[in-house]
Amino acid sequence: MSVISIRKTPDYSPEALSAAVNAHMEALNIEGDLSHDMRVAIKPNLVSPRRPDTATTTHPGLVEAVVNWLRDRGINDIVIVDSPGGLYTAQTLRNTYSTCGYRELGSIAELNYDVSWRTAETPEGFKNRSFNIITPLLDADYIINMPKLKTHSMMTLSGAVKNMFGAIPGIQKPEMHYRWPDIMDFANMLAELNLLLKPNLSIVDAVDGMEGNGPNSGSRIHAGVTFAARDPFTLDKVMADFIGLKDVELLDKYEELGLIKEAEIVGDDQADRVKFKYPDSKPLDFTGHVPKLLRGPAKWFLNTALTPLPKVDRSKCVGCGKCAESCPPQIIRIRDRKAHFTSKGCISCFCCQEMCPVHAISIKRRVNL
Ligand code: SF4
Ligand code: SF4
Repeated sequence: MSVISIRKTPDYSPEALSAAVNAHMEALNIEGDLSHDMRVAIKPNLVSPRRPDTATTTHPGLVEAVVNWLRDRGINDIVIVDSPGGLYTAQTLRNTYSTCGYRELGSIAELNYDVSWRTAETPEGFKNRSFNIITPLLDADYIINMPKLKTHSMMTLSGAVKNMFGAIPGIQKPEMHYRWPDIMDFANMLAELNLLLKPNLSIVDAVDGMEGNGPNSGSRIHAGVTFAARDPFTLDKVMADFIGLKDVELLDKYEELGLIKEAEIVGDDQADRVKFKYPDSKPLDFTGHVPKLLRGPAKWFLNTALTPLPKVDRSKCVGCGKCAESCPPQIIRIRDRKAHFTSKGCISCFCCQEMCPVHAISIKRRVNL
């Protein structure tokens, strides 16, 4: 049984956030975990430098409420740490903290600028033999994972488990996509990463989430809740149900690995459910209505015709090259200050769309139904 705490959190006022954090911490009895000499790492979602009102990154107000809660209990060695998309440099981090509204948090917690990483070996039985992990997360005594609740073009759901992908340094993330192009293998990798790092607690910002083409190009949607749990896998399942997502491969993988437990919901379990729109990339499958014998060929046709692929709008493209930098199979070239894609070799990971600062990349299928 996993305890999942849900709290109505109507807005980002300090009062609402502090009330929600107090309630989550009490419901999960977190105070008992902590001691004064601990180094606590807070891992928000800082995928790219976007303002808080775009609902792309974890709101700084929620992180501030968690830091204040820790400091009120005498825990002062707190570091805020993430490896955003793109290059992992001190300059990128400075820019990200500034745009995402985190710079002021530097007066109450350490903002990480250490861009080193180490290799952590995984236990036997894992498909990944090791992971390269950013140093402050490996050195922490206690990890508080703080995702933004979003739909995601590749994984459908960006919740607690996906947020820990930011533990992988910079452009080593696209390399992981290249190594595990199949969505279920990628989901397995995310599960193994979480089983290795074992975030102690997840507190999720769903006051305003992102629907549609997340993690960067979707739209803000007000859900008015925060979630918290010790178990990120069951938490993801509860959150997917809350926002009406079905057929999420990530959850199928956790199920297969036996990682989803029975959930005991505490707090505002009657909070209004809010349906999030799927990303445009969500695979479509109508073969359930096709006679059994024809299902194989029908699936082949649909996979070919309906495989989602990125498409660049060159009138918007500013030729920054961030898509090419993050494309795992390196099939994007910048010519005449515009991005040019070849569809051959594309693994539909949508890292390019994730990294494009001007939303010049959309998702299209060969056949539109
Ligand atoms: S073109 Fe975009 S979607 Fe295709 S492999 Fe490269 S980054 Fe992934
Ligand atoms: S990231 Fe966007 S703006 Fe930059 S080169 Fe690629 S498509 Fe153009």
